[in-house]
Amino acid sequence: MFTAYELQRAAVRPLQITLYESSDRLGGKVRTMHFKSADVRYEAGAAEFYDYSHFGHDPLRELVEELGLPIRVLGGSAMVVDGAVISSTDDVRSCLGGHAEASLLAFDRLARDRMTPSEFYASGDDGHATAREPAAGFGATLETIDSALARRYVEHLIHSDLAAEPAQTNETYGLQNYLMNDPSYMRLYGIEGGNQRLMDELAARLACSVRTGCRVESIEAAPSGGFVLRHSPGADAAEDQHDLVVVALPHDQLCKVTFGGARLREAVDRHRSHHDHPAHYLRVSVLFDRPFWRESLSGSFWMLDRFGGCCMYDESSRDPSMTHGVLGWLLGGDAARELARATDDEIVHAVLGSLPGFLSAALAANHSATMEARVHRWIGAVSALPGGWTPMPLERRHCPDPVGHPGFFLAGDYLYDSTLNGVLDSAERVAEWIAADLAEGRLPRRQGEHHEGT
Ligand SMILES: Cc1cc2nc3c(=O)[nH]c(=O)nc-3n(C[C@H](O)[C@H](O)[C@H](O)COP(=O)(O)OP(=O)(O)OC[C@H]3O[C@@H](n4cnc5c(N)ncnc54)[C@H](O)[C@@H]3O)c2cc1C
Repeated sequence: MFTAYELQRAAVRPLQITLYESSDRLGGKVRTMHFKSADVRYEAGAAEFYDYSHFGHDPLRELVEELGLPIRVLGGSAMVVDGAVISSTDDVRSCLGGHAEASLLAFDRLARDRMTPSEFYASGDDGHATAREPAAGFGATLETIDSALARRYVEHLIHSDLAAEPAQTNETYGLQNYLMNDPSYMRLYGIEGGNQRLMDELAARLACSVRTGCRVESIEAAPSGGFVLRHSPGADAAEDQHDLVVVALPHDQLCKVTFGGARLREAVDRHRSHHDHPAHYLRVSVLFDRPFWRESLSGSFWMLDRFGGCCMYDESSRDPSMTHGVLGWLLGGDAARELARATDDEIVHAVLGSLPGFLSAALAANHSATMEARVHRWIGAVSALPGGWTPMPLERRHCPDPVGHPGFFLAGDYLYDSTLNGVLDSAERVAEWIAADLAEGRLPRRQGEHHEGT
């Protein structure tokens, strides 16, 4: 959707664009849902948007504004450790001791020294995969924290953002996920009325043919130029031809499409194995008749030292008029993958059992009732190491065979930073290249075709 929208904006001539979507809705992992037992919303996928506008150009924030969508600033600074709330360095000292506090401050200095806020922002220009360091895992960086309590604190703090274990990612991405907890590096917001409104507003402005319920099965170069795309079930013909193709799939979906012709297949296989670093999420949203936790915890979210470190959202804080309470658990990494194998009931039982003692007591004291719970499994759906161990040049990331298949592009968050900002950066990059090629007359065409391009 981002690519189609950016393309229709950037192209100097009208284009015929077709968007294929296998499910019956647009928006992918940006999904706002409603409970059945009350008309209450929750986010089933992407939780929040990352705000870089305090540095300058922030394409996602600008798009949200352009679409006229009101935002709500989100924030949280607490971490629950062994049943105690830590929200300041004083709390760290009193809960974890002076050694842990000193160790944590030393790590914090190291992280800030390795990446200033403006370096953090600039890393978005060529994807957050600007890592120049050798392929050492972030686990090695964490090992330098000499207090075990402080190390565990950092691991738990960033686990749900990484959606992976420290050894599965590199130092740059690990540090970014640590530093983004500081508002001088990054801020957070949601869209009033639900994050999916972004996709709905975008869909309403797409001047292209949108085919939902249309799964792309295979793509290969056509003998006459351009590409043949086969899809199913599809209301129309099961085979279409296009001059250019942008494959905007998450990396875990690439293996489900057949890429025809040895050269294209090999190029996509290389691309896929370079980016094959699956990370996992498990999201559980529970509806209560009231927000029983508000006397003990404020903010839109806090971290909890369970499931290897998880994020708990006060989903109901997104809507101040709501009288119900919604708690969301976002589990990441190995804990998410393992618990996702259990039934929904078992998962809900496990997350409710993870409530710290003071919240279980508040739940009982308020006679709050659990009304409904929803589980969403996102296994392998994001990348633990966007850009891969050795980042490729941007052009190669988006165009895996520039000589053999110059009209074949890929776009996705796994090429940047596993976020919506990354998808938009990637989409903009591809759209600008295509628009420039079109303006310069370099657009590959099918033989005998005289239209403006599809
Ligand atoms: C639980 C969770 C929390 C997250 N939280 C955040 C967050 O707070 N902030 C943030 O910025 N990002 C977050 N993300 C990441 C964010 O959701 C992704 O970066 C973003 O959705 C990726 O967009 P995409 O278009 O690349 O992929 P998707 O959103 O997955 O969209 C891909 C689309 O392709 C369709 N499709 C798949 N196969 C085919 C096929 N063969 N033919 C046609 N269509 C096909 C799918 O149905 C889907 O609609 C989160 C992700 C998860 C899972």
